[in-house]
Amino acid sequence: MAHIVVIGAGLAGLPTAYELRHLLSRPHKITLISNTSKFTFLPSLPWVGLGLTQLEKVQLEVSELVTKRGIEWLPEAVTQLNPYTQTIHTDAHALDYDYVVIATGAELALDIVPGLGPDNGFTQSVCNPHHALMANIAWQNFLQHPGPLVVGAVPGASCFGPAYEFALLADFILRQQGLRDQVPITFVTPEPYAGHLGIGGMANSSQLVTELMAEREVEVLENTAISRITSQDIILANGHQLPFRYSMLLPPFRGPRFIREAVGLGDANGFIPVLPTYQHPTFPSVYGAGVVTQLAPPEATPIPIGVPKTGQMVEAMGMAVAHNIALELGAVFAQSVSPTLEAICFADFGDTGLLFLADPVLPDPETGKRRRAITLGGRWVSWMKTAFEQYFLAKMRWGSAVPWFERLGLRAVGLSLLEPVPQGEHRSVHRDALSH
Ligand SMILES: Cc1cc2nc3c(=O)[nH]c(=O)nc-3n(C[C@H](O)[C@H](O)[C@H](O)COP(=O)(O)OP(=O)(O)OC[C@H]3O[C@@H](n4cnc5c(N)ncnc54)[C@H](O)[C@@H]3O)c2cc1C
Repeated sequence: MAHIVVIGAGLAGLPTAYELRHLLSRPHKITLISNTSKFTFLPSLPWVGLGLTQLEKVQLEVSELVTKRGIEWLPEAVTQLNPYTQTIHTDAHALDYDYVVIATGAELALDIVPGLGPDNGFTQSVCNPHHALMANIAWQNFLQHPGPLVVGAVPGASCFGPAYEFALLADFILRQQGLRDQVPITFVTPEPYAGHLGIGGMANSSQLVTELMAEREVEVLENTAISRITSQDIILANGHQLPFRYSMLLPPFRGPRFIREAVGLGDANGFIPVLPTYQHPTFPSVYGAGVVTQLAPPEATPIPIGVPKTGQMVEAMGMAVAHNIALELGAVFAQSVSPTLEAICFADFGDTGLLFLADPVLPDPETGKRRRAITLGGRWVSWMKTAFEQYFLAKMRWGSAVPWFERLGLRAVGLSLLEPVPQGEHRSVHRDALSH
């Protein structure tokens, strides 16, 4: 019987562990390892940073969710993975695996720009729970002592939605509190244009974002690189300086150290290369899911940026991985599948918001087109985002990755999570060793 280890209990890892448990009979052992005891719904962290919700409300204790469902739980950080011997080390344990699913999300490359915070710098981030709490403490202080606000992302970043969300929600709160006239807001982005989002824009995303920023009197500096940050100023690569009293800047992502240190496992930035099945091209026992997987940008941009991986995309990767492992173990009889990378994403701006529907997220490399791309705005988007948060947390409590009614709902709007891998693009790996 096989031992499958999933590393990371986030938006990709926890649903993957549930789906594996659903597809594989009990003698197969599933272990979930994560360096934190809690699951965090990361899309809500901008709200935490701005004091619009509490962190506890978007977190779940993983232990009680998984152990009662027949998933072994190890709340420890993976420090080493040897894909040749198929062993994983934490500080306290060593585990052998037949398959490993790496779903660790991103490590934040905060050292890439001198002065980038919050740990050893001057700016805030909302990319992990700890940073969101720090951002909120600084934000409460800022409301007492308002001044210039700078929001955006530094070169190499790939996740831009939360920066737009943070800037426009901050504007909304400041207006509500009668402080907006004391706070000039500047948005700095390495994207070639506002609303590019790392994916070459989508439908009228650029126009809608630009109009919204202008309406809310947010100055936008696009195609702009930040080179250094001091306690009072953001220094741009063109030499200009932006004074700030509060700043939230999104950093670039990279894979965790144990991937960067394992020869041949990841690329130069620690991202896992994957086949259409999300299996590693060199190590058949390794699969990747989530932000830690490699996804090439659709086009080169004047300032390098990455491609975002949204909640729905990473969930689809996890579903594909669980299916393909079950297929190799003979637990399902079907074809290998690939995530479609279609996605719906909501951005909340307080009294309005934007819905992005991209089918698929990355345009066709040859035609530069997607099957469908829709951007819609309205107050209802803000409510949808709350509903999405509550729904996701509820299904993680139920122990269900993607329930049938969700698949049905997606199909109703013409979306699906998985598609068969085109002939010749998957690799069938028969593994006799799995009888032990
Ligand atoms: C601020 C923010 C806002 C976002 N907003 C949206 C949104 O509105 N809509 C949307 O669709 N997407 C959004 N996203 C993207 C979405 O959150 C990600 O796609 C998703 O969280 C990625 O899932 P993941 O499992 O790959 O990583 P994560 O959710 O980060 O989970 C990774 C897990 O692995 C653990 N881990 C890391 N290293 C180790 C290790 N060495 N050993 C063991 N465990 C480890 C981590 O602690 C974590 O629990 C947002 C992202 C951010 C940062």
